[in-house]
Amino acid sequence: MKIIMLGAPGAGKGTQAKMIADDYGVPHISTGDIFRANIKEGTELGKKAKSYMDKGELVPDALTCDLVMDRIAKEDCKNGFVLDGFPRTIPQAEALTEALQKIDQSMDFAIDVEVDDESIIARMGGRRACTECGATYHIVNIPPAKEGICDRCGSALVLRDDDKPETVKKRLSVYHEQTQPLIDYYKEQGILHAVDGMLSMEEVFAAIKKILGA
Ligand code: AMP
Repeated sequence: MKIIMLGAPGAGKGTQAKMIADDYGVPHISTGDIFRANIKEGTELGKKAKSYMDKGELVPDALTCDLVMDRIAKEDCKNGFVLDGFPRTIPQAEALTEALQKIDQSMDFAIDVEVDDESIIARMGGRRACTECGATYHIVNIPPAKEGICDRCGSALVLRDDDKPETVKKRLSVYHEQTQPLIDYYKEQGILHAVDGMLSMEEVFAAIKKILGA
């Protein structure tokens, strides 16, 4: 089962991707998480990616595509995977289609989690991320048991630089310009499904499970 999660930043696709990965036993591949891990480790890739991420811009395709292709070629992806935050541009989607075609495969589902811009801005201002394990929370919708502390690993929670209001507005305009065209791309491939991202986390997940046929 090979799934792509689509949707604006903050639509909840990361949370759903993790739930799908847990439920179906397939890896959750988030390019944002991979970049953040590289930033934390101080790698060359991390340094390059950070300069774009902090401005709300996309990391260039040349730095992103090979990373994902190498990841999905790993043994644990044999039975499928959930892509979260990739592809984000038409060239990335084309690179993915071509890489899979070479091994006689194709993506099975592209799930668009729909949320309007105003709600995205409200949501992201309340988002908090763990500085250690990357878990995400929301001060109103998914609060941690103890304010400012990660339930999973006990580290501090912060408002990520790229979740700050000016950066969120920039990320939304980048989304509409560069990522939204993927909706038509996957519609044409016949694998696009939309879910209402304004519903509760559990309701969105139930809608996704119905689409996946489980
Ligand atoms: P995310 O956690 O998916 O919202 O990603 C955070 C940031 O990482 C984005 O705003 C981009 O700067 C960068 N990023 C993540 N995935 C990609 C991608 N597929 N292509 C380009 N940039 C990306």
